[in-house]
Amino acid sequence: MKNPVRYNLRVPFNSTFSVAEEEATLEVLRRGDIDEALFFLPNLEERSSGLQTLAECQRCADRLAPIFERLRGEGIVPSINMWWTVSFSDFPGLPRDHREKFDFRWAVRQDGHESRTVACPQDQAWRQHTREMYAIFARLNPARMWIDDDMRMTLRADLHDACFCDVCLEEMSRRIGRTIARSELVPAIMADPPNAVRDNWLEFLDDLCHDNVRGLADAVREANPETQTCLMHSMLEIHNAEGRRWDRLIDALGGSEPWCRPPIGPYYDATPITYCSSLNSCRLALAVIPGHVKMAPEIENYPQSRFMTSPRGVKMSLVFAQLFGMGAATVSAYRYAGRLDLEIQRHDAWSGMLHDVKPYLQSIAELGVERHQFQGVSMFHHGQVCRHTRDVADEPKPIFLYRRRPLDDALPLLGFATCYDAADVTVFAGEHLACLNETERHEVFGRGVLLDGRAAETLLLSGDGALAGLKSAAGESGASFETIEDAAFGGLVGDPINLRWESTARQFDWLDGARTVSLVRGYDDRETGHGIVLYENGLGGRVAVIPYDSQAEIGTLGLTYESMCTPGFLSFPRQAQLKAVLEWLNRGPLPLFVPDAPSVYPLLIRQEKRLIASVTNLMTDPVSNLSLELAVPGIVPVSARHLQQDGTWADAADLSIDTVEGGAVTVRTSITAERLEPVVLVLDS
Ligand SMILES: [Zn+2]
Repeated sequence: MKNPVRYNLRVPFNSTFSVAEEEATLEVLRRGDIDEALFFLPNLEERSSGLQTLAECQRCADRLAPIFERLRGEGIVPSINMWWTVSFSDFPGLPRDHREKFDFRWAVRQDGHESRTVACPQDQAWRQHTREMYAIFARLNPARMWIDDDMRMTLRADLHDACFCDVCLEEMSRRIGRTIARSELVPAIMADPPNAVRDNWLEFLDDLCHDNVRGLADAVREANPETQTCLMHSMLEIHNAEGRRWDRLIDALGGSEPWCRPPIGPYYDATPITYCSSLNSCRLALAVIPGHVKMAPEIENYPQSRFMTSPRGVKMSLVFAQLFGMGAATVSAYRYAGRLDLEIQRHDAWSGMLHDVKPYLQSIAELGVERHQFQGVSMFHHGQVCRHTRDVADEPKPIFLYRRRPLDDALPLLGFATCYDAADVTVFAGEHLACLNETERHEVFGRGVLLDGRAAETLLLSGDGALAGLKSAAGESGASFETIEDAAFGGLVGDPINLRWESTARQFDWLDGARTVSLVRGYDDRETGHGIVLYENGLGGRVAVIPYDSQAEIGTLGLTYESMCTPGFLSFPRQAQLKAVLEWLNRGPLPLFVPDAPSVYPLLIRQEKRLIASVTNLMTDPVSNLSLELAVPGIVPVSARHLQQDGTWADAADLSIDTVEGGAVTVRTSITAERLEPVVLVLDS
């Protein structure tokens, strides 16, 4: 079998695991066709006081040893997933307290509060303890030791911040070459760049995380050279604000086959924006993490309520893990409180579904999708963006250096396929542009570029504003709606677009030749500023500026949205306008656009002489007669296959392929896209 689909199932486990629980676990693993069982231990969240003593860990390992033997006999790979290395969230009504149990140097919040639960990540006693803990479980010979996503330097439990203990402050003072007090450090980090204190801070956090991961991986290797240490993690945007450099962190894992586990899919059935965002987050991890790393993205359902999470939604995430070419998927669907023997007596929505969907997933896996095959508008990302974050001086914690990516979500929901590799059109939001040097900047601005208001300001600060026709900044305009003013860019002149959840519109003075295609207006219809402005630069590139700030988050009417991924932005006038703008930037039709299908997730993959197109409807109403507009140079599709629910391919017989203006083709089908059920088409040329 080519590219066999692998399931990893997370099994909550502790030393009191009963024979009945063991039998129930075996039953679920068999029924679900599970390849690898990740024992989540040494304790279960609701039953766990937190970090466990070595004696507690050893009791847990002793209980697990015979189960490992049994699983190997059944052809199921046993692995370990640690629960609690650095820190986890507390239950608000019952905070955990480790002070009697361990003699660690406790982490300190920036206000001087000493944690009851979390050790300073530089504390040698804590480091030694966690390394011994990992070694105890490595001796069971698990295939993999998974470090959980509490391995991050924004500490959880009662801190929700980094450690500001005297030792950490001393280390920061050493790095910046002067003594810095606890009360001074955060304001110094949050000041606008260039900011050497912030750069040092991000390097300090990255070093801390790296050293701790390396220490654990070394301890595992020493206890058992056969076991590979692997890493679960959270959203990349957040890890960026912890200075994380993925290449050296993966190096720290060591071994020949490191795996990572980004999240995929939301915890609960959600809005189209949330679904889209969670899929993009996983795809971004795929693009950024070094290519040799294997991926087993995790679907989680905490606290495992079928009242909040549907099998259909979970299945959709499983399908995307395959469409992203990841091969494996991790499922965390059974409750952490344990007693699986009781849980499945009431209800088991998961194991049967996992079994039934595997042939369908296998058919996608056999397409052999690779991470650099995605086609579409390129959403630029750089891991060091937080060095360049501006306007956060009033934020209370360094983690608020993180940057939002609302256009990553808005463009797919409006029907445009996107990617995270270089492409003919690149979207820059926020300060990412500041990560490019002059040569790189000129190279990308010689093609097509879309900037949000903050990215335009970033370009001006780089001294290269002329690349986008920018002369100078000219303040901000408040507005209640935007109107299409140029029929070539949105069709219906005067068509209004609601701005309730958009930031104010950044205004600029423009060089000759700049073309305003929309205006922002106030309540009385009066023009208050420019909307989208286009410009052709001296490098032969085309640039569009959309004036809103991707980093604003607006709350009104009791609802909060990231600017540019809002109910006002996600609209037919905006879609028509952006389609024309993006095609103008691209000097031709886009790789994939899905018309007449509000809030879908389109995906386009290019392989030699064929295209794989997938469209997932994220709305409740079905999309009937699904059609696609495709334009990939060198590939003109002539026939199509459609993946059936049983995993077989059927010729899409009543499909028509028409060539339209500019070399694009329109593919019309009679397929109905139901909510959260991805449509997968292979188009052969
Ligand atoms: Zn510390």
